[in-house]
Amino acid sequence: MQVDYDVIIIGGGLVGGCLALALSQTPLRVVVVEASSFAEKQTDSAGQRAIALSWGSRCILEQLNSWQQINESAMPIRDIHVSDKGHFGKTRLSAKAQQVDALGYVVEAAKIESVMAARLTKAGVTILCPAELIDYQIDDSQAVVTVNLDGEERTLCCHLLVGADGGLSKVRQLGQFELKEYAYDQQAVTGLIKTESAQCDVAYERFTSEGPIAMLPHVGGQYSLVWTMSSDKAVQVKKLSEDAFIERLQARFGQWLGELSLAGERQVFPLNLQYVPNNTAARVVLIGNAAHQLHPVAGQGFNLGLRDAAILADVLAHNLQNKGVDEVLEIYARRRKTDQQLVTGLTDNLIKLFSTDNALLSVLRNSGLLILDKLPMLKNQFAQQTMGLSSRFARIKVN
Ligand SMILES: Cc1cc2nc3c(=O)[nH]c(=O)nc-3n(C[C@H](O)[C@H](O)[C@H](O)COP(=O)(O)OP(=O)(O)OC[C@H]3O[C@@H](n4cnc5c(N)ncnc54)[C@H](O)[C@@H]3O)c2cc1C
Repeated sequence: MQVDYDVIIIGGGLVGGCLALALSQTPLRVVVVEASSFAEKQTDSAGQRAIALSWGSRCILEQLNSWQQINESAMPIRDIHVSDKGHFGKTRLSAKAQQVDALGYVVEAAKIESVMAARLTKAGVTILCPAELIDYQIDDSQAVVTVNLDGEERTLCCHLLVGADGGLSKVRQLGQFELKEYAYDQQAVTGLIKTESAQCDVAYERFTSEGPIAMLPHVGGQYSLVWTMSSDKAVQVKKLSEDAFIERLQARFGQWLGELSLAGERQVFPLNLQYVPNNTAARVVLIGNAAHQLHPVAGQGFNLGLRDAAILADVLAHNLQNKGVDEVLEIYARRRKTDQQLVTGLTDNLIKLFSTDNALLSVLRNSGLLILDKLPMLKNQFAQQTMGLSSRFARIKVN
């Protein structure tokens, strides 16, 4: 049966955009359906958040011919300093020890999206925007997708429907995928911070009894703060005057970067863990935040979603023309399962272990940091995991 497209991607955010770009290197016919205009995304507060990209993500973005432009405003992380306030454990991961240029990079989400948008236009990918998914039906030979494009309903047919439509995924809701949810009752307070120290290639992860503080190097010698705390405290902290806010941050973060001051607006993001245990169904697959929305403390959400996009593009490019869609999705699910379960589980355990006052867990986490610091092999493995290089996941070959 003749269909309009091989693949319809709902959501042209960070992950959907990367999938579309990877598929543009193949003969497959692809369309992206995106609800928000590009201009809206560039100015909304979510676009300003700093994304820590792993070395593995850099490798994927290189394959998508996008790294060079993203790198123009990326800050390299050459060391990661991990410590626990008021305790003895600490460790330092270094790019030198891993024999790479950087353990990862920090870039604004809006920068990645603007590079993606330019590359998609150049590659001639069809983007329907602003357009929203309304409904879809699956039958033996196709997925029939109804979208609202500029106030008018349109019906499109495809072999495969991809839900890359974020944490509130409508593809997921309409497909009645089972969703596991865990509300941490925590929020992330983010903002740009000026520091006294000129050091600008070290990222800090500091665990406190209130929750973890991440300070990531940002362009212009500033640092990007992601400070996680209980929802009650976040409400209080958001209301603090600038001076009181900095005083509280300094008391918890310490003097690792000298005196701190605020360089931009504070924002607050609610945090939860949600994931779909089986993210494929007949002719439908969920990727990125639609499949798994993680706590940002480990900086893994986009990195994990990018690997979904890369592997899906690889599997589709090599199999869609000679195998049935369901068989192709089985191959994809097999290749993604371990990585998705590992990263979701690790992030969840990290939050539970590090945002607690429990004395036993506190001893455990400090012993863990000390052991990590003293055992180079273990530290290397941890660094490889952090860099997104622990296995074959970083590779993408779509043509
Ligand atoms: C404070 C904070 C810090 C973070 N830091 C990091 C980090 O350091 N490193 C990291 O890897 N990750 C980080 N993340 C996570 C990362 O931002 C997400 O994992 C990533 O944005 C997910 O991308 P996505 O494309 O799956 O979803 P989204 O970015 O949510 O994109 C979904 C897209 O779908 C569109 N859409 C939604 N519904 C519809 C519909 N019905 N029809 C059409 N289009 C639709 C939306 O407009 C949007 O463009 C952080 C997150 C937060 C909140």
